[in-house]
Amino acid sequence: MANNLPLTIAVLGSHSALQILKGAKDEGFKTICICVPARKKFYEMFNLADEILTLDSFANFEKIEDELIQKKAILIPHGSLIEYLGIEKIERLRIPHYGTRKILKWEADRQKQREWLEKAGLNLPKIFHKPEDINQSVIIKFHGAAGGRGYFLANSPKDFYKKIKKHPNEKDYVIQEYIVGVPVYAHYFYSQVKKELEIMGFDKRYESNADSIGRVAANDQITADIQTSYTIIGNIPMTVRESLLPKLLEMGQQVVNVSQKLEPPGLFGPFCLEMIIDHNLKITVFEISARIVAGTNPFINGSPYTWLKYNEPMSTGRRIARDIKEALQKNCVEKILG
Ligand code: AMP
Repeated sequence: MANNLPLTIAVLGSHSALQILKGAKDEGFKTICICVPARKKFYEMFNLADEILTLDSFANFEKIEDELIQKKAILIPHGSLIEYLGIEKIERLRIPHYGTRKILKWEADRQKQREWLEKAGLNLPKIFHKPEDINQSVIIKFHGAAGGRGYFLANSPKDFYKKIKKHPNEKDYVIQEYIVGVPVYAHYFYSQVKKELEIMGFDKRYESNADSIGRVAANDQITADIQTSYTIIGNIPMTVRESLLPKLLEMGQQVVNVSQKLEPPGLFGPFCLEMIIDHNLKITVFEISARIVAGTNPFINGSPYTWLKYNEPMSTGRRIARDIKEALQKNCVEKILG
């Protein structure tokens, strides 16, 4: 790699940082982990960061931005970067940033996200614009809820108004048709360098208490007045029926194609389609994440699908680093910075 080009990969110490640091090291980059002082010891334990910079709060990222620029670092975004900095700050960052920032507003704005996914021809859950319209099982989701925290189910306007009382400060929510089926999180990677879409893997989430409620008899659930909630605790790797894979690949491709028209140069790098698949194999997509998702963390040594394609350990973190490396080698680094 030429000396005047970015040779360091930097990431906030949270979310999928370990995977990104490991992938960067495997591809020959120097690495910087930026973390809060209380997490320094934890990140040191893995020996994956050549340098650990501490910040009292991630929200003060601009305090170390110049230092990172001097060190020729490329910042890899993940869910925690978006959560702590917010889109506006991310849009103003001066440090080279992997992936397109322009697409973030399409992801963050519910209306825009829906428009994008509808244009891609995906099947989406019905939206109820006012609680009075609820005439079936629905899921109420709070905007920006960290990992599904506080979501609840309702089946009538009365039920909704009873349960929303527990969330007096939440004004921003969406009421979505509740789809009975299994949640599947499909991880993709689109390379701007190769102009190719790859399926990286799949996970299902381990959510409290949605995934523990079945351990309690129905009678006890009613007595204890247990409400279903979706706080994400971890991720479980999975594979899907091979016969579904061509369709899933096509869905990812449509999402990329539409993004290129909506916001050139479009979505690239890792992204995830979050869906429910029902007993008729009908796929309903309820969300897109336009970046690496924590559901890729079980695949630090690669997923069954990346093993088939690469024949070497290929995590999403490593795939990002390889994309950067290939862009540097082909002298087209601008293609992967957005
Ligand atoms: P989200 O924060 O949108 O990723 O959703 C968190 C969890 O809520 C998912 O993992 C699903 O278990 C569940 N979920 C979200 N939307 C729906 C839906 N429309 N129907 C059924 N379950 C859903």
